[in-house]
Amino acid sequence: MVGLSEFVEELKKSIRGEVLEDPNIVALYSREPDGLSSTAAKAVVFPEGPDDVSTIAALAYRHEVIIYPQGSTSSLSGNAYPVREGVVVSFERMDRVKEVNLVDSVAVVEPGVRIEELNTGLAPKGYMFPVDPASQSVATVGGAINNGAGGMRGAKYGTMRDWVNGLEVVLIDSEGTRLRLGCRTVKCRQGYDLARLIIGSEGTLALVTEATLRVAPLPERIVTALAFFSSLDELVKAYMDIKSSGVQPYVAEFMDAPTVELAAGAVSLPFEAKGNMFLVSLESTPESAERHLRWLEELMRRNGARAVYTATDRDETERLYSLRRALFPAQVNMFRRPGKRTQLFIEDIVVPPSKVPEAVRGLRALDSKYGLRSSLGGHIGDGNIHPAIGFDPDDPQEVKVAASWFKDVVDLALGLGGAISAEHGIGTLKREALAKAVEGRQLEIMRAIKSVFDPKGLLNPGKLF
Ligand SMILES: Cc1cc2nc3c(=O)[nH]c(=O)nc-3n(C[C@H](O)[C@H](O)[C@H](O)COP(=O)(O)OP(=O)(O)OC[C@H]3O[C@@H](n4cnc5c(N)ncnc54)[C@H](O)[C@@H]3O)c2cc1C
Repeated sequence: MVGLSEFVEELKKSIRGEVLEDPNIVALYSREPDGLSSTAAKAVVFPEGPDDVSTIAALAYRHEVIIYPQGSTSSLSGNAYPVREGVVVSFERMDRVKEVNLVDSVAVVEPGVRIEELNTGLAPKGYMFPVDPASQSVATVGGAINNGAGGMRGAKYGTMRDWVNGLEVVLIDSEGTRLRLGCRTVKCRQGYDLARLIIGSEGTLALVTEATLRVAPLPERIVTALAFFSSLDELVKAYMDIKSSGVQPYVAEFMDAPTVELAAGAVSLPFEAKGNMFLVSLESTPESAERHLRWLEELMRRNGARAVYTATDRDETERLYSLRRALFPAQVNMFRRPGKRTQLFIEDIVVPPSKVPEAVRGLRALDSKYGLRSSLGGHIGDGNIHPAIGFDPDDPQEVKVAASWFKDVVDLALGLGGAISAEHGIGTLKREALAKAVEGRQLEIMRAIKSVFDPKGLLNPGKLF
């Protein structure tokens, strides 16, 4: 790239933050947990504030250098890793919670704040930021905004698009222009909703330098049941019973039996975890907790649960959640094979909850079709399922089977009125699927929007389209 070395030299002189070119360090910022990696980035820059970000954007524009914004690079669809020669912009040092205002129900934060840290600070005030990706110990606010992330509380609280009131962004133009989008308040009508446009844009439109997030009171009491079923059909029936009763679970997560077996090896539980796992929490009060818990336990047993473990206090609840939090390492272990490279394909489809039974049956039928065993798990509460397979990216036959399986998974989700991604986004892995999923002139409109924000195509290229 013509201007890259000049860009890097000028950056070093112009910003407060650091620029690192050591290839070993750059490599750490060039890979995702799904196994995707590259050697395309030549440096990593760590801005220390919005002025640095403005300078980086203006210089990148002038030198026509590609930049890759990043939080913690925990994406799972090729959203964050560099694919063409350029420079990574890591927001990890812009990590201040600038303000928490409970009267306004907002927290104003820099993009590098990790979601778990934000929640640790809010909890003593009796508040939470409800979007809690299973990766929340690393996931940053900037990354979660740009991936449109969701989490375990998604069935009740939705995704990032429901919890961002306003943003400050920097545009990639000759000035590195700073803009405030959206509002501080929940209610906000000021023309097109440009803040929402940034949510889920995967770093392709603008650099987020500050977010005004909504916060919510912590529920008074949570009751939790962790149940194990012999068959997935029974589990899905229990799920349908909860949904059709009108109760909105605070958390509703599942995992199939082979995945549970591997996950159980990674956590310490005082009981045997065996079978298909259904984890459900309900919001409650001290007065109603016993009654809610009994209702949940009876519902599980009525549907065939062979073991049910319950919790009403924080530590016990966390212990039950620890099994679900081990989903990703279990999937990694399931598909790792000695002597082979493994690329994980963790899908992220979402279907209307009423269609979950058909989706689960359809996914199992694909296992038979391809003679493989996918791992099933995810946020069943809002119809979001993460079927996963692993394949060797150096083996053309395995690549072909994985591509064909993925195509069928996409067709299944779309056929049931769902979507190709609920929360992980498109990245590099689902570009073809996006083209298939969106109707009419939508892609053309998206490309036109991209060219208004980023006319030289310098922000996270190769993603989405
Ligand atoms: C074990 C595990 C569990 C997970 N569980 C969940 C889950 O439950 N729910 C879920 O939604 N996801 C989940 N994920 C995926 C991922 O962790 C989340 O999407 C997370 O929010 C990404 O945050 P990050 O800081 O790592 O972002 P990154 O991966 O670094 O970046 C994400 C995207 O945002 C862009 N970006 C980052 N910062 C900025 C910025 N300041 N300005 C502009 N663009 C920016 C990047 O270019 C990229 O496109 C999981 C991942 C793992 C490994």
